[in-house]
Amino acid sequence: MIAPMSSPNPLSISAHQILQQTFGYDAFRPQQGEIVEQLIGGGDALVLMPTGGGKSLCYQIPSMVRRGVGIVVSPLIALMQDQVDALRQNGVRAAFLNSTLSLDEVREVESQLHRGDLDLLYVAPERLLLPRTLDLIESIPVALFAIDEAHCVSQWGHDFRPEYVQLSILHQRFPHIPRIALTATADGATRREIIERLALENARQFISGFDRPNIRYRIAESRGNARDELLRFIRNEHQGEAGIVYCLSRKKVEEVAKWLATKGVNALPYHAGIRADVRARNQQRFLREEGVVIVATIAFGMGIDKPDVRFVAHLNLPKSLEAYYQETGRAGRDGQPADAWMLYGLQDVITLKQMQASSDAPEQIKRIEHHKLDAMLGLCELTSCRRQALLRYFDDELAEPCGNCDTCLEPPVTWDATIAARKALSCVHRTGQRFGVTYLVDVLLGKGNTRIRHFGHDKVSTFGIGPELNQSEWRNLYRQLIAHGLLAVDMEGHGGLHLTEASRPVLRGEQPLHLRKLSRKKSMKSRERKANRFADQGQDKLWQALRSRRQQLADEQGIPAYMIFHDATLGEMVENRPETLVQLAKISGVGAKKLDAYGEAFLDVLNEYRNLEDDSQSDSEEETLQLFRLGMDVPAIAAQRGLKETTVYNHLSKGIERGEVPLREVVKLEDHQLEAIRFALEHHDGGKRLKPVFEALEGEFSYEVLRCVRADVVGG
Ligand code: ADP
Ligand code: ZN
Repeated sequence: MIAPMSSPNPLSISAHQILQQTFGYDAFRPQQGEIVEQLIGGGDALVLMPTGGGKSLCYQIPSMVRRGVGIVVSPLIALMQDQVDALRQNGVRAAFLNSTLSLDEVREVESQLHRGDLDLLYVAPERLLLPRTLDLIESIPVALFAIDEAHCVSQWGHDFRPEYVQLSILHQRFPHIPRIALTATADGATRREIIERLALENARQFISGFDRPNIRYRIAESRGNARDELLRFIRNEHQGEAGIVYCLSRKKVEEVAKWLATKGVNALPYHAGIRADVRARNQQRFLREEGVVIVATIAFGMGIDKPDVRFVAHLNLPKSLEAYYQETGRAGRDGQPADAWMLYGLQDVITLKQMQASSDAPEQIKRIEHHKLDAMLGLCELTSCRRQALLRYFDDELAEPCGNCDTCLEPPVTWDATIAARKALSCVHRTGQRFGVTYLVDVLLGKGNTRIRHFGHDKVSTFGIGPELNQSEWRNLYRQLIAHGLLAVDMEGHGGLHLTEASRPVLRGEQPLHLRKLSRKKSMKSRERKANRFADQGQDKLWQALRSRRQQLADEQGIPAYMIFHDATLGEMVENRPETLVQLAKISGVGAKKLDAYGEAFLDVLNEYRNLEDDSQSDSEEETLQLFRLGMDVPAIAAQRGLKETTVYNHLSKGIERGEVPLREVVKLEDHQLEAIRFALEHHDGGKRLKPVFEALEGEFSYEVLRCVRADVVGG
C-alpha cells in the first residue's frame, strides 16, 4: 500500500523559514515545532521546559506567523529591555510596556500597535490588567497571549504574584485568541494550579523533563580552604569566563569578592546591603562585559537571563534542592558545557541545622524545611549519580547514570564505617550529649587538654579510642552522621550534638553503615578541558579574537556581547572556519539580519587569522629548508624539529616548487622511475588528487615522493 503523501502545511513552512532566516537555526528542538504548530493552529498550550530549553521561540515564531501582535506577559520588568534588544538584533519588531517608560515612549509604542508595526509586545501583568491597556488590546489584532513564568500564579510557590491570578480575565475577554503558559519550575501541583487559575483546561500540555544535561554537577567536602579551591577551579577551568559564586552571608560575599579581585579575577560583589546604584552597576557589568564573576547572596539571580554563565559555584550549602536546582540552573542556558560546583563542610551543616532549630516558624513549616535540608544533605553525601537523584526528587526519571556528574566520573570510595560510627556516637553519649565536634574529636583522639580534664572526660571509655582516623576524617564522619540524621544539633547555638532515635540501632551494632570516604586528593578532579575548550586545540587565539570583536561590536551599541552572537555560534565559527558570507550564513545562530550587520566584521577576523597561520606556516617551512641545506636528511630534520616525516616532505615540496631545492636531492629516483611518475601525473589531471596516481603506479612510490615530483612539475 502506498502511504498518502501528506501535503506540506503552508503555515509550518513559514514557521520554518522564520526559524532559519530570522533566527539562523536549522531545526526546531524536540517539542518546539509541535508547540508552534499548536499555536499557529489557534490552540492553547501549557509548556513545561527546563531553563535553556528554548521556550521563547515557542511564542515568538507564532507571533510572527499569525496576524497581529503577540503579547508576552512577564513579571521580570528588568529583563524586558534586553529581551526586546535581542529580538531587534534579529530584525524582529518588538517593544515593551512597563513602568520604566516615559509617557512619550508609551504613546509611541501605542501608536506602533495601532499601525500594526509590532510582532511582539512585552508587558508586565499589572500593566496589562489596566483598563486602558485592555481596551487598547481589544482595538487591535492580537496573534496570541504568552504567559511567561506561569508558576507565579501559584500561591504556594516562592514567586507568587497576585496579579497573575487575575490573568484569567484574558480568557474571558478574548476567548478566541490562543494562549500559551510557560514555566521551568512547575511540579505536578503547580501545574494543576496553572491550568485551573488561568483557565487552561483545553490547553495541550507539553511537558519536557527537567534535565539540564550540559551542566556538570560536582560537590565536594571543603577542607577549610574553600577560597583557594575556588580560585584553583576558576583558574584551571574558567579563566576569563562568566560565573556566579553564591555565599550565605553578606560579609562573606564582600570578603570573597575582594580576595578574588586581588588574585586577578574580575569579581564583583552583589547583595541586598550594597547601595542600589552600585548593585545595579555590578549587575550591568556582569551582563555586558565578558568574564565577570559575580559573588552574591541568593538575592542575585532572579531574572538573570545571561546565556553564557559558564559556572555556578556554591561556597555554602543551599537550604533545599529546589534552591540548589534553581541557582545552578543559571549556568549554561545556551546549552554549552557548564559547571555546578559546590564545596560544603561540617560548619555548613551545623549552621543550617541550628538556624532551623532556633527559627520561630510554625511547627509544620519547620518540619517541611527540615525535610528539604535533609534532601539537600542527602545529595551531598550520595555515592551514586547526582543527576539521577536530583531528577528523582523532582519526579523525573533518568534511566541510566548520567556520566556527567562527579560521582559518575569518579565514583567515590565507600568504607564500612560501622565501628567508627559506634565510637563516634558512643563518645557523644559518654560526654553527656552537649559538646561540639571539635571537643568530641579531641576526646576520641585522646588529647588530654585542660578542658577535657576539667570535665573528667579523660576518664571516659571513649577517651583515646580513635587513633585509626585523623582529625579531619573524624570531622568528616561527624558531618555525615549529622547529615544522615544520626545526630542532631542543639538549639542553644553552641553546636552541641545529641543522639537521635535513628542512632540507636547503629550504636547497638544492629545496623551496618557504609559512608563516603574523605578523598585524600587535594582538589576535585578538573574537567579535561583547560581554560576554554579551544585552548587544547591550539585555536585559542582565534576564539579570543572572535570574542574581542564581539565585545567591540556590543560596546558600540551598549548591549551585552551575547546579543551579537552566542558562544555556541562563535564556537562553530572556530570549528568550521567559514570564508564567505554564504558559508557564514550556514552557522547556527546567524540569521539574515545579523549576517548583514556583522558578517563582514567576523569574516575579517577569520581571514586575518588565516593569514597569520599562513605566515607561521611559511616560517616553519623556511626552517626545514635551512636544515636541509645544512645537509640534514629528512628523518634527522623530523627528529630535531619534532615533526612527522610527512610534514618535512611537505615543506621540502614547497621548496622544490619554488625552485629553491633540487628534486633529486630530496628523492633518490632512477630516470625511468621519474619518467613513470611524470607520465602518471600527466594522465591523471596533473595529480590534483594523488590517490589515482598512487594507484596507477601500483603503490610503488610513496605519497611523499609523488608530492615532491608533482611540485617539480608544477614549478616547471
Ligand atoms: P528558555 O527560555 O527555555 O530558558 P531560551 O528561549 O532562552 O530558553 O533558549 C535558550 C537558548 O537556546 C537560546 O540561546 C536560544 O537561542 C537557543 N535555541 C532555542 N531554540 C533553538 C533551536 N531550535 N536551535 C538552536 N538553538 C536554539
Ligand atoms: Zn551522574
